[in-house]
Amino acid sequence: MSEAKIPLAGVIGHPVAHSRSPRLHRHWLNTYGLPGFYVPMDVATQDLETVLRSLPKAGFVGVNVTIPHKEAVMNIADQITDRATLIGAANTLIFREDGKIHADNTDGYGFITNLQDGAPDWKADAGPAVVLGAGGAARAVVASLLDAGVPEILLTNRTRNRAEALKEEFGKKIKVVEWVQAGNILEGAGLVVNTTSLGMVGKPELRVPLDGLEAHTVVTDLIYAPLKTGLLQAAEDAGCTTVDGLGMLLHQAVPGFERWFGQRPEVDNATRAAALR
Ligand code: NAP
Repeated sequence: MSEAKIPLAGVIGHPVAHSRSPRLHRHWLNTYGLPGFYVPMDVATQDLETVLRSLPKAGFVGVNVTIPHKEAVMNIADQITDRATLIGAANTLIFREDGKIHADNTDGYGFITNLQDGAPDWKADAGPAVVLGAGGAARAVVASLLDAGVPEILLTNRTRNRAEALKEEFGKKIKVVEWVQAGNILEGAGLVVNTTSLGMVGKPELRVPLDGLEAHTVVTDLIYAPLKTGLLQAAEDAGCTTVDGLGMLLHQAVPGFERWFGQRPEVDNATRAAALR
């Protein structure tokens, strides 16, 4: 009699101890009564390929990838989805039965699903979207906003070159604005997104003047520690609909969990509580 294999998955990063993904996936495994395990794996860059090629042999069906390996896995994967190619990074790997590593990026999906969940009345064509920051996460945000149909993205970053590089890649719907002018582009925006690390626990506050925020604007922050950042507090005070960053983390995990464990999980209040525990 052959024993059914128990699917294994996990998150690879360096460091990885801070990751909330193990709590999240274990919550879903328990909720749905599924066999399987999800573990954090701290892997140094020089060992990344060896580890990824070995894991399927040990029963792993896939992994999430986090900082600093999201770009490096693109050079290791055998197949890459269009959205991962567009973003230039992958966060979800599927180990196929034929031994091939399939790479996808679900950050943009997580971002837009969280936004639509938290601000169901937001319309992509409501006005320009202001994106603060042009790092790795901003790439996924910009790609998903363009995909959703926003007419224009006003992109501003401390290091202007990085914003210009995104404009080069993503095209003429992106207008680069000087970082010192960021406070002047909030008026009339349909959406404001903070993709910088400013406002996160242990980082400086976001110093952009926020008095231009208007009540019709939806404001969202990718940061989820704290859940209510200075930006979200100011937006709430201005009467805006606000969406915190935790939902993005939860929703980006859905496609991977479904592929690995065979069940599409719900993102609900119990999921939020489990990830915060
Ligand atoms: P990253 O690639 O390192 O980019 C960091 C961004 O923050 C850059 O735009 C950087 O500007 C800006 N920044 C940092 N310090 C600054 C300062 N003192 N003044 C002005 N700008 C500053 O990081 P990332 O991967 O994009 O992540 C950004 C944030 O999003 C992090 O807080 C991360 O936790 C969060 N995130 C959340 C989720 C989620 O699921 N909710 C997913 C991904 C990321 P420069 O280019 O000038 O350095």
